[in-house]
Amino acid sequence: MITSPRTHMLAALSAIIAGAVGTAVIASFLGPAAERIVTVFLISLIGVVGIGIYSGNSGILSFGHVAFMAIGAYVSALLTLPTQLKIATLPHLPEWLATTEMGLLPATVIAMAVTGLVALLVGAAIGRLEGSAATISTLGLLIIVHGVIIGWRDVTRGAQSFFGVPRETGIWTAVAGVIVALVLARLYRDSISGLRLRAGRENAIAASAVGINIPRERLISFVLAGMTMALAGALLAHFLGAFSPKKFYFNDTFLLLAMLIVGGMSTITGAVTGAVIITLVTEVLRRLESGLSIGGIELPAVFGTTQIGIGLIILLAMFRKPEGLAGLKEWEERLFPPAAAGNAAPAMPKAHASTPLVAKGMTMRFGGLVAVSNVSLALQPGEILGLIGPNGSGKTTLLNMLSGVLQPSEGTVTQGSVDLTGIPSHKVADHGIARTFQNIRLFPDLTVHQNVLVAALSTRGGAEAEERAQAALAELGVAALAGENAGNLSYGDQRRVEIARALACQPTLLFLDEPAAGMNREETDALMETLRGLTRNLGIGILMVDHDLALINQLCDRLAVLNEGKLIAQGTPAEVRQDPAVIEAYLGPGKLSSKKNTKPQGQPGRKPELAG
Ligand code: ADP
Ligand code: MG
Repeated sequence: MITSPRTHMLAALSAIIAGAVGTAVIASFLGPAAERIVTVFLISLIGVVGIGIYSGNSGILSFGHVAFMAIGAYVSALLTLPTQLKIATLPHLPEWLATTEMGLLPATVIAMAVTGLVALLVGAAIGRLEGSAATISTLGLLIIVHGVIIGWRDVTRGAQSFFGVPRETGIWTAVAGVIVALVLARLYRDSISGLRLRAGRENAIAASAVGINIPRERLISFVLAGMTMALAGALLAHFLGAFSPKKFYFNDTFLLLAMLIVGGMSTITGAVTGAVIITLVTEVLRRLESGLSIGGIELPAVFGTTQIGIGLIILLAMFRKPEGLAGLKEWEERLFPPAAAGNAAPAMPKAHASTPLVAKGMTMRFGGLVAVSNVSLALQPGEILGLIGPNGSGKTTLLNMLSGVLQPSEGTVTQGSVDLTGIPSHKVADHGIARTFQNIRLFPDLTVHQNVLVAALSTRGGAEAEERAQAALAELGVAALAGENAGNLSYGDQRRVEIARALACQPTLLFLDEPAAGMNREETDALMETLRGLTRNLGIGILMVDHDLALINQLCDRLAVLNEGKLIAQGTPAEVRQDPAVIEAYLGPGKLSSKKNTKPQGQPGRKPELAG
């Protein structure tokens, strides 16, 4: 399924084809030298786009994908190399390989498949690593593959040149390859997997909480990227005719990454922009490198001009536009912004009748600190349970354990006969439990619509995702903001979008961690009405942490009070207010009455703290 509007896809695809064909036509008019430069450019473009499929969507810079280019090159070359030559130069090849001689197309397809398999194995391991560990492991991949190629002399001729490969890649072959790569990358970017992966890139914890299995999505893009690199490698091998392992090492990695970073990782537009700029600059600087005369003044030849020039461009781009020259949106997404949903939104479906969530003996230890100690509570469908307590009393930690963000040190969480204890966050969402976060965790560079849609797509089998997304946006009154980037909204709007995103998972239980923080009185009152509606009309059970006592007292059916990690009281707001333990914990009687906490209307900022 494709997640972007059809006009966008049509515009993008026709531009890809027109651009690639146009470039080739112009180049073939300019003669063989230009044709060679353009062919190399087109092959590099496939490489940049390939790395971009993984790095752009996952946010993990990969130094390793040129290794897949190498695999693609060697595998395809072994398949197309004339039998005579194989017998002469690679006498130890296995019989079946020595007698195989096929055309470029089947060889490329096989090379892509073989590379895809290798990428599958490598990616399964690398996909579990985070941040710089992931990047560094890709560097390891590059070095290992290089080592294997050099060591496996019987098949690769080791460090020596692998020659005699039929030169079958002409400019039109390269054009065809570019079209395949660009279309593949674009389809992936707009696929559900692509959207999920970008959500994971923006905020991994929140992505898991809406049902996204990040390692799986990373693996898909890793393999797809590897196969695209193999395509580039196969075409390059059959363009050069002879190559050595050096061709697929740091130099090309640096060049391709420079293109990707300068242009912008997260879009196809960026990959193309970067490839064009770096290719033009290298061509100009390469001429400078051998000396130049301008108006009779002889400039001396400076060795290394090209590398220095590329380095400077990267620096310049990072200082001026850290997200790359093309930014975060595809060109057609800027030109034709998607219209905000105008038609009446469908109603939220009712929550499935559900059994209560029962937590028993929940304990969480961080080193020596017991953040939550032996807490048991139950949440009924359709009720609002307020969880209150001073700062640091363990409220967030308890929510984190209940939603799978943290593995409890002790305790069990069950829902009827289903044991939810310690299951991964992305599976909790599928059991009908959705949440928001104390420190807002949206996907800031995705639109409001995408934030909510990706949640709907990743829970309950993704059924009727668009309807669910629209209904959730309407329920929280943020439908008009659908086209905005979530990161650009006010805090109040961000909190509402976060609730809408949770709602799009079609939960039976909703955990809200300080949903009214940063909202003014008016916004808080509106939120209260919305939350009431969710329980009354949809039967959703809500577990809510907040410091706003007016909100808590008016909204909650029951309260649970934490102090220093222990549950010190539970009951209706009136009961809890009179509980001696609570009164003692909160510095004397009267503190829990909402009347004492009234403050000027409409004043934004923090609510009064329970603990004064
Ligand atoms: P609350 O939400 O009630 O303000 P928290 O659950 O955030 O409280 O924190 C409870 C205690 O656990 C605090 O002392 C906090 O410093 C500690 N804590 C919370 N999360 C972690 C963590 N990931 N690692 C170590 N300590 C933590
Ligand atoms: Mg907290």
